[in-house]
Amino acid sequence: MLSASHQPPNPGIVAPKRTLSVRVRLMVLAVIAVVPLLAERIYSEELDRSERIEAAQQQALVVARQGAAAQNEVIVSARALLQTIASARTTFDASNEKCNLFLATIAKPIPWIKTLSVVDLQGKIVCSSFPGAIGLDISKRAHFTAVIDGTDFFVSDYIVGARIKSPAITTSLAQRDVNGATTAVVLGLLDLNWFEHVAKTVVPPTGSMLMIDGAGTVLAQYPNGDDLVGREFKDHPLIQAMLAQPEGFIVEPALDGVRRIFGYVKLPGTQARFAVGFDEKTVLTRVNREMWAAFAELGAIVAFALLGIWFGGERLLVRPILALAQTAARIGRGESETHATALPWAAEFVPLAVAMDDMAGQLNARAQELHDANDQLRELAQIDALTGLPNRRTFNERLGAEWKLAAKLGQPIAVLMIDVDFFKKFNDHYGHVQGDTCLRKVSGVLMAATRARSEPAAATVAAELPPSFHRIAGRVRRSDFAARYGGEEFAVLLQGADYAAAMRVAERLRQGVENMLMAHAGAPWGFVSVSIGVGIVSRTEQSDSQALVEVADAALYEAKRHGRNRVVGPAAVALSEAV
Ligand code: GH3
Ligand code: MG
Ligand code: MG
Repeated sequence: MLSASHQPPNPGIVAPKRTLSVRVRLMVLAVIAVVPLLAERIYSEELDRSERIEAAQQQALVVARQGAAAQNEVIVSARALLQTIASARTTFDASNEKCNLFLATIAKPIPWIKTLSVVDLQGKIVCSSFPGAIGLDISKRAHFTAVIDGTDFFVSDYIVGARIKSPAITTSLAQRDVNGATTAVVLGLLDLNWFEHVAKTVVPPTGSMLMIDGAGTVLAQYPNGDDLVGREFKDHPLIQAMLAQPEGFIVEPALDGVRRIFGYVKLPGTQARFAVGFDEKTVLTRVNREMWAAFAELGAIVAFALLGIWFGGERLLVRPILALAQTAARIGRGESETHATALPWAAEFVPLAVAMDDMAGQLNARAQELHDANDQLRELAQIDALTGLPNRRTFNERLGAEWKLAAKLGQPIAVLMIDVDFFKKFNDHYGHVQGDTCLRKVSGVLMAATRARSEPAAATVAAELPPSFHRIAGRVRRSDFAARYGGEEFAVLLQGADYAAAMRVAERLRQGVENMLMAHAGAPWGFVSVSIGVGIVSRTEQSDSQALVEVADAALYEAKRHGRNRVVGPAAVALSEAV
């Protein structure tokens, strides 16, 4: 069962469905308006971002190329050095101690040379700056076989020495006799630690460096690369990508997990790659900061705009709408002096205000029409249509009011009941139309007699009786009041009339009708006459107004019984309070 609180407050009015408020709609519009701005911001930030990445890539590539060039210089120098040794070697025996000394002397001041060796055609090291190497068989090594097979100068893949854990490459050069036949192979083992040192001078402090050989083995990494050197990362996406192209860019997490923007190049004469990378986060720090600043700025603008709309909307939109609603409510309550157009409105509201005033005008006109129609209805309800006299209902109302007044003033009140004599016969003889005319003439006598002592017309008096009644009752003698009581019966009310006065008025009325000498074939005396019964009471508080009518009726009955065309006063026995 529903409790009372669940009932709609007014079952007659269906509350309209609520949708988004005007302010919220404005906010939605504002947000929609900001979207392109936001999109432009995001686009330009994205552009900035990719520009930064591109610039970093270019820079990385340039640096990597510089590193490769430095490496190349070393290799070109190595070739020249090996060529010099090959030329000089003809002057001494390879198995000579002097040879070892010679090579050691040449190798010593050059930081990037680890060892220099001479290999015979069988692949045995016969002379070396590193005595421990003498006798080693390198006949299976690529740097030996390539030269024996006709290559003038060969650069090996990078080797991480098993004993000395530093990466190296081997360069080899064919020594030929005057006929061009290979007589020996000269080897130069180049130290890459030195190269790393050179690379570090090329790579800016914010950058990192990575060097891998063709098999994906790390030859050098800076920074934090010591434990990675010598390890193979063939399957690492970064390494795979670098080995797939001779040079290029890539943004990937590096071997240490840090995402970097890399530029890489193939080192000349080798399968190795030299890569320079910049930490993506560092590169984008400024862009990111700018992006967040831009978003924060945009957010602040939006927040400001929304606040503005919320509070400004209250003032500029909601209040005028409420004012319009209040104006409409006042018009609805019938406050005819309300004019919506008297207030200042925004242009869009003016038609509404004009329409409201128009509506108010129409409402007022309708109200006036209704008022007039009500007046007419009230009059119709109070007045007898045939005679123009107040009807019985009006008489009873008036009697009730006059009764109270009489009680209040302590004065007598009288009622005359008047009935046309032999009226049935009149109708029968002259017809109903004539009958009606007769009734109107009798009414005219009553009206004239009572109006002579009254202020306005009887109907108006009856209508205006309350509330002015009490106010004027004490000062002015109320009018006598005649009404059509029903059929050919009339009643007259006499406020403040004592017995003598009432009898006098009744007699004058009877005479008035008689004096018209309206022909009545059915009456013994040949003219229309009335019989009048007088009822009078002086102490109204002990009885009611209808009792007074009954007294008058009884008197009328007596008048009829005694022959008609006469006035009969109240029987002393009929009402104990009667005078
Ligand atoms: P009495 O002298 O005893 O009053 O006799 P009466 O014939 O006047 O009385 P009765 O009550 O027998 O008849 C009244 C008649 O009045 C009957 C009815 O036709 C007539 N009458 C009542 N109202 C009207 C009316 O509005 N117009 C006309 N023409 N006749 C009316
Ligand atoms: Mg009658
Ligand atoms: Mg009659």
